[in-house]
Amino acid sequence: MSRILFWILLIGLVVMAIRSKLKGLDARQQPPLHDEPRRQQPVAEIESMTRCAHCGIHFPASEAVHADGHDYCSPGHVRLPPQ
Ligand SMILES: [Zn+2]
Repeated sequence: MSRILFWILLIGLVVMAIRSKLKGLDARQQPPLHDEPRRQQPVAEIESMTRCAHCGIHFPASEAVHADGHDYCSPGHVRLPPQ
């Protein structure tokens, strides 16, 4: 009889240990609270692209050379006619 009680106790302890281990894993998988504001921020700013009036290459608008109402990829292409 005492053997049966021993095994029931042992199985109960193992089940409790597994449960507490699983709870620990669940707590680790949840994101920390300080991550919350980061998720609400917009995705990284998307830079608009423009096209060189001479060679047709697309590049970031911030790097464009503006002349005569056109965008150029480099100062050298400003002197060449738009295509
Ligand atoms: Zn160009």
